[in-house]
Amino acid sequence: LEGVLILSEIRKDLVRDNWVVIATDRAVKPSNLPVPALGSAKKAAGFCPFCEGNEKFTPPEILALRPSDLPSNDTGWSVRVVPNKFSAYGMDTPLIRESVDMYTRQSGFGSHEVVIESPEHDQELHFQPLEKIASVIGVLRDRYLQIAGDERFKFIQIYKNRGLFAGASLSHSHCQIISLPYVPDQFKGAVNYASENSRCLFCDMIELEIRKKERLILETDNFVVVCPYAPRFTYETWILPKNHQENFGELDDSKSLELSQALKKLLVSIVDTLDDPSYNLVVHTAPVNVPHVPGYHWFIEVSPRLIVQSGVEVATGYFMNPISPEWAAETLRKNILNRKD
Ligand SMILES: [Zn+2]
Ligand SMILES: [Zn+2]
Repeated sequence: LEGVLILSEIRKDLVRDNWVVIATDRAVKPSNLPVPALGSAKKAAGFCPFCEGNEKFTPPEILALRPSDLPSNDTGWSVRVVPNKFSAYGMDTPLIRESVDMYTRQSGFGSHEVVIESPEHDQELHFQPLEKIASVIGVLRDRYLQIAGDERFKFIQIYKNRGLFAGASLSHSHCQIISLPYVPDQFKGAVNYASENSRCLFCDMIELEIRKKERLILETDNFVVVCPYAPRFTYETWILPKNHQENFGELDDSKSLELSQALKKLLVSIVDTLDDPSYNLVVHTAPVNVPHVPGYHWFIEVSPRLIVQSGVEVATGYFMNPISPEWAAETLRKNILNRKD
């Protein structure tokens, strides 16, 4: 494709074994994108069940960080985990799968937890001090390990919806954990790569991205922050451990402060560069309680939600991305470098 005028490139997404349409016209600015800035449901006033003092309006807590002499389900906590009151999944339904006529269905067995990151309503994750971000990550990791101990669960998905266009229904900063009895196949490209090459796709990508630097945003002792080659979302960014680790549960406490620092820098630069966008944060990790499948390497994805998916995505399943990851990485990298903190 060198030397010819092209308006876009269709790039192969090796992880998902799919295609992404990347516009190469650099004139597109975040402010030209169809979804306006913020969209964060930030301003929603009124009653909030996640605020300190409202503990009795959530289901009884699963875990909370608070001094041990204080009673549970009351004030004084710093991070609090509760069941999601409005989940589509429940632990009370037995795991049933059946076929009726030509159709198949299964019961909504699963667990769904909310991790409330702060007792204060307006304390967003990227504003928090590093130690606090690390303690949130520690709680997510600990819940992950605890849930993985239940053989019925095969897949644990940690995620965060920030803002209206990322699907947040409550503005009080929180993460969620959904645990399911089956494994989605969105990583089939990475799994095939591992079985064909006997190597980890992500480890190979990390090595390449550090060498080429085009899409590299930040590198620390143990983590890299990059825009992937074929990002589905504008300014989609990944934070990966440099050493091969399949499972988020393997994250060591000694590295969580370093991870928090990388995450904070990334989130601050995204919020700053893109005028306070909605975003999803997702922790991708290997399935649990299944025979070992090579190909997984855990990482955090942060995907700002700046465009509305169109008929092309609906029809083909190919995502359209109007901003190249090289451009996005350069923008975020410069923003981080220009910051004094
Ligand atoms: Zn609140
Ligand atoms: Zn790897």
